[in-house]
Amino acid sequence: MTQFAFPTRSYEFTPYVDALNWIGGQWLPSETGRKEPIFNPRHAKEMGSVVYSDARDVEKAYQSAAAASAAWRAMPTRERAQILFKVKQLMERDFEELSWLLSHENGKCIGQARGSVAKGIECLEFGASMENMADGGQLDVSRGVNCRVIHEPIGVVAGIVPFNFPTMVPLWMIPQALVAGNAFILKPSEKVPYGAMRLAEIFKEAGLPDGILNIVNGAKDVVEAIVDHPKIPAIAFVGSTPVAKLLYGRGAALGKKMLCLGGAKNHLVIVPDADRELTAANVVASFTGCAGQRCMAASVLLAVGDVDHIMNDIISQAAAIRPGVDMGAVVSPESKERIEHYINDAEKRGAKIVVDGRGATVEGQPGWWVGPTIIDHATADMPAAHEEIFGPVITVVRVKTLDEALAIENANPFGNAACIYTTSGGVAEYAINRFEAGMCGVNVGVPVPREPFAFGGWNDSKFGHGDMTGMDGYRFWTRPRKVTTKWALQTDTTWMG
Ligand code: NAD
Repeated sequence: MTQFAFPTRSYEFTPYVDALNWIGGQWLPSETGRKEPIFNPRHAKEMGSVVYSDARDVEKAYQSAAAASAAWRAMPTRERAQILFKVKQLMERDFEELSWLLSHENGKCIGQARGSVAKGIECLEFGASMENMADGGQLDVSRGVNCRVIHEPIGVVAGIVPFNFPTMVPLWMIPQALVAGNAFILKPSEKVPYGAMRLAEIFKEAGLPDGILNIVNGAKDVVEAIVDHPKIPAIAFVGSTPVAKLLYGRGAALGKKMLCLGGAKNHLVIVPDADRELTAANVVASFTGCAGQRCMAASVLLAVGDVDHIMNDIISQAAAIRPGVDMGAVVSPESKERIEHYINDAEKRGAKIVVDGRGATVEGQPGWWVGPTIIDHATADMPAAHEEIFGPVITVVRVKTLDEALAIENANPFGNAACIYTTSGGVAEYAINRFEAGMCGVNVGVPVPREPFAFGGWNDSKFGHGDMTGMDGYRFWTRPRKVTTKWALQTDTTWMG
């Protein structure tokens, strides 16, 4: 009988949970014996430990996955999909518990934790439905000659994920990889391993055979061992740009299929004809949601011409956001320090801090808080205006024309998201056709494409081909076998009639 790390359907957090490795359907200690503490960001309180594994643990996970792989691959797609549908039911049953767990380990407020679990379930639904869409295509290419494509599983594949969405980002990868017939090794963020661990338990309860989903906890050593492993041919990564770029290069040099999503610096453009109410509420939600710790968060506001009436609303609404109630904590003391450093630096360079979240505190929760912050009258050359801050901060650059705004957006090396606020369709089309960003919004500050539309940025926000979810996800986790057939008709057989 498997000993689960978390009491099922309980909101009681076991006082101290060790995040071990999930290999072959069991929690196992790491070969290294090394552990590091895990903190609750809202309370700055140690809540458990995580093992720091190495190549030996990755090898163990690989062996377990490889041993289970043949039977899984031979299972009809429909049966694999049924297990994912069961996972969906169990996630819905445990929705509050999963949300609560995220809120504890990541610092999100509960409403935003619920939103991220819901989005994870949406990815799961899409993955489970893949069998309905996964037709490979076929054509009679010549008289009696037929060509068809079969999308086959690749084998043992892997995913490496960041801290900001502990349940959702693994679900960008796992459902499609599994339904396609692969076995999976996941490396969660060492800051927030619990969400993924709870998912592994749910997959087991849903009937996933042992060894098909494995978790190896730890940091750089685990990631490098996965990328260098000679028998893991496809790897998806989500995290910061320097690591995404490095791993893409390392894996691609070994001939692997790599898709590495990186960081972001998302620009919102407000023009004078924008709807005042909609724009203000949307901008504030975009840069404060998840305490700004999402790759789709607004980070730069390009205010075109006279938009003071909208800016005033943005300022008053942002100032009313209550850390601890409307907004969660940031993940670590290092994050808080980095975010506050960007604010200090912009101020020193002459920008005005019109809403100041530095030194925010929340009664009874002595964690790592930064309140909503608006850096106004910044210039595009300030680090706060062109580097990723990853906190609840928006840097406002005032410009005279839309083309000036687009030039600033285009010059930024990232390319995840960009958005325009306007009531004019023509202006909106003009901007979205010129943004250097893979995901564009019109009056939508977090333009995350919903399934079946795939998620992925451009430029320094993504290394590799294709996108992460949607049909692209299915293509990433499979390899196409092209089959050409021609049959001679045997007319001399008596049984043909
Ligand atoms: P991170 O890059 O520090 O870590 C991501 C993963 O890589 C973790 O599992 C970590 O253990 C591992 N890692 C870290 N340094 C490594 C190294 N030197 N070598 C090998 N592995 C290493 O990112 P994070 O702080 O966890 O997450 C925040 C970042 O992720 C932000 O930049 C954010 O924009 C980005 N992000 C991007 C997307 C997207 O879809 N583009 C989505 C979510 C987060």
